[in-house]
Amino acid sequence: MNLILLGAPGAGKGTQAEVISDKLGIPQISTGNILREAVKNGTDMGVKAKGFMESGALVPDEVVIGILKDRIAEDDCKNGFILDGFPRTVPQAEALETMGVNIDKVISLEVADETIQGRLSGRRVCEKCGASYHVEFNPPKTEGICDKCGGNAVQRKDDAPETVIERLRTYHEQTAPLADFYDKKGKLVKVQGQDEVKATSELVLKAVNA
Ligand code: ADP
Ligand code: ZN
Repeated sequence: MNLILLGAPGAGKGTQAEVISDKLGIPQISTGNILREAVKNGTDMGVKAKGFMESGALVPDEVVIGILKDRIAEDDCKNGFILDGFPRTVPQAEALETMGVNIDKVISLEVADETIQGRLSGRRVCEKCGASYHVEFNPPKTEGICDKCGGNAVQRKDDAPETVIERLRTYHEQTAPLADFYDKKGKLVKVQGQDEVKATSELVLKAVNA
């Protein structure tokens, strides 16, 4: 099954993608995590992407499309995958079609902008494996330490309040139109993402299995 998780920054795409990934045994592909890794390692791509990410803008389409194409060509994707944070623009969605990727379902996590700020300010992300946590709603067992790999769970630079405002603006302008894009193809399923993580996971799994 090939799935897309759509939603604003902080809507819980990463968290829910992990849940589906565990349940269905298909990989979660987060372009954000891949880009952060590239920035951390100082690769050419990372150097190019850094400024866009830190200002709350999108990384250029051709860069992320290239990343995604390489990633889904890997062996572990042959039974399906969950895209978390891709596509983020209509040209990215069109690129998936050009690549011949058939998307089964697009789960849109619906969360109001007012909720986003609190979620992002409390968010912590593992430096090593990218797993995401929240100090209040989804804390790791040991403060600051990733449950999965023992790495450090830290705050992301772009979760600073000024950058969050810019990311939300970018989202409404460039990414939100994708809901309509996939709705017209009959693939969009809206899921209420305002409640706690577990309640949302149940709704998401129901939508995936429906
Ligand atoms: P979130 O969903 O919390 O905003 P991500 O981890 O998915 O964050 O992405 C972080 C940043 O990486 C984005 O703000 C953007 O700059 C860049 N990025 C990630 N995925 C894409 C994409 N598909 N297209 C363009 N930029 C992307
Ligand atoms: Zn980790």
